[in-house]
Amino acid sequence: MQSQSRSDTYDVCVVGSGAGGGMAAHTLTKAGARVALLEAGQMWDPVKDGAMLKWPYDSPRRGASTRERPFGEFDGCIGGWQIDGEPYTMAPGTKFDWWRARMLGGRTNHWGRISLRFGPYDFNRKSRDGLGDDWPITYDDVKPWYDETDKLIGIFGSAENLPNEPDGIFHPPPAPRCYERLATKAARKLGVTVIPSRLSIITKPHNGRAPCHYCGQCNRGCMTASNFSSTNVLIPPAQKTGRLTLITDAMAREVTVGKDGLANGVSYIDKKTGTDKHISARIVVLAASACETARLLLNSKSSQFPNGLANSSGTVGKYLTDTTGTDVSGFIPKMVDMPPHNEDGVGGMHIYMPWWLDNSKLDFPRGYHIETYGGRGVPSAGFMGGIHHYPKGGGYGASLKDDYRRYYGASVGFSGRGEQIPNDDCYCEIDPTVVDQYGIPVLRFHWKWTDHEYNQVKHMQETFRAIIAEMGGQVFSPMPTKDEGYGIANGGSIIHELGGARMGKDATTSVVNANCQAHDVKNLFIADGAPFVSQADKNPTWTILALSMRTSDFIAQQRKAGAL
Ligand SMILES: Cc1cc2nc3c(=O)[nH]c(=O)nc-3n(C[C@H](O)[C@H](O)[C@H](O)COP(=O)(O)OP(=O)(O)OC[C@H]3O[C@@H](n4cnc5c(N)ncnc54)[C@H](O)[C@@H]3O)c2cc1C
Ligand code: SF4
Repeated sequence: MQSQSRSDTYDVCVVGSGAGGGMAAHTLTKAGARVALLEAGQMWDPVKDGAMLKWPYDSPRRGASTRERPFGEFDGCIGGWQIDGEPYTMAPGTKFDWWRARMLGGRTNHWGRISLRFGPYDFNRKSRDGLGDDWPITYDDVKPWYDETDKLIGIFGSAENLPNEPDGIFHPPPAPRCYERLATKAARKLGVTVIPSRLSIITKPHNGRAPCHYCGQCNRGCMTASNFSSTNVLIPPAQKTGRLTLITDAMAREVTVGKDGLANGVSYIDKKTGTDKHISARIVVLAASACETARLLLNSKSSQFPNGLANSSGTVGKYLTDTTGTDVSGFIPKMVDMPPHNEDGVGGMHIYMPWWLDNSKLDFPRGYHIETYGGRGVPSAGFMGGIHHYPKGGGYGASLKDDYRRYYGASVGFSGRGEQIPNDDCYCEIDPTVVDQYGIPVLRFHWKWTDHEYNQVKHMQETFRAIIAEMGGQVFSPMPTKDEGYGIANGGSIIHELGGARMGKDATTSVVNANCQAHDVKNLFIADGAPFVSQADKNPTWTILALSMRTSDFIAQQRKAGAL
């Protein structure tokens, strides 16, 4: 960590070092700006701190999860569903799960790397079906930055020329594994589109980084920098410019404003000493993750901005969405007693099933994609839990061991990831009474799914059950009922929360303009998922990265023109 002088005024202060903040710091330092990057979490070096290639027996806990590592002890993320001293609250009846990372690089250290462009339809959904709102920009407005993101970071995939699944600049994709081939055959028989997956993992040398060696452990980080994390790909080149001041363990409290109504810096808590500090900057870029950014804006109250900063529209915290999700898994008898075979590959799926249907024949709007899991990864703690669900599985001693061998790799699962329509009942606000350990008021979440989402998830359940049946398999769990919400995951739990400071042309109904610049404060920008007007049936991070680069290029241009 570099020390910073309080009297320094930086060109830009970026808050948060994940996907959005890392890209902003990278683009702005390359463009010549002196940037202070505030990160609430600790330093993290994937090479030194990651657990790649550790065996379960390297730990007495065998890699089992902990409160700080809910996805397993070797997972490359510090943070989780609950962070000590940093609570959030929920309105009565709300079920919302909020995953937060607290480390350099944020959630990009362990994310799934499914890297999808939003398609042309995803930017103007209201014009197509009358629901939600259109974005003030089109796919063509973002395309050049998607291309640049592909070139900078590297991504594998295949050109498919599908209408709402734009192709990118791809490295060759890895071949499907055995269970993925079986799933492909069954899904295609039912009319489901199946293509190679698109993950930000390099399969040939790229910008000085080595290609993937197929250890299959991407969630631990990557010591060879073959997959994308902000920590591996964006922060080091920004540091090399000599223009980045990286300040970790720095919990931003609020954006400060001058008498002229412009942002003049960020106040933060130095977590190591517990002291309050301030960074002065001519421009502020918030990228603390969608909900944290809404929280920062709402907590940045002053006599000029009594309802929070950039909130003259009253929409900060509103139009919050997450991806819909549900899973089904089953046992595939034809995969029992499989001879050992090569399942090496990336830490993620090798196939992808994009949305393939026409909504005019369905009882829900929008769509979902399908992710597939299964196979014979390195066994870890809790491995093959529920062996009694297999025919004649379970028991004790030698026969139990035998069952593990026979059934290992004989199950497959499908996860649906769909588009939620923003609604008035899904939002966050400041809890009037609760503060975190730093005295910062916390968020209170409100959440209600509508029939749009319930019907969509019911369709996912039915589809996945049909694919498993087509594979000759047996599903492990009964079809969830309407009262069980058809198995819909809690809001927030798919970890694709977006919105809370949406973009728009109209300053009375949106927070930022088409360049992610606050309508009310021209030197304040947002570079995470908060400006998203809508979800898509795609994971959001590739769009966060492309928009952050686009916003940062706009800032650089405006600085050059003397407008900022
Ligand atoms: C297990 C998992 C799998 C995922 N898989 C995928 C996937 O396959 N595809 C996909 O598109 N997306 C995926 N995601 C989502 C993806 O990680 C996020 O969309 C992305 O990281 C968001 O980027 P961000 O910059 O907004 O936030 P983050 O990456 O979370 O970064 C925010 C940073 O801001 C810091 N911060 C927060 N508050 C403050 C503050 N007050 N002061 C200073 N710093 C602060 C945090 O510590 C953090 O480092 C996944 C997420 C998880 C957890
Ligand atoms: S599978 Fe490839 S990209 Fe993922 S951690 Fe292993 S080497 Fe790195």
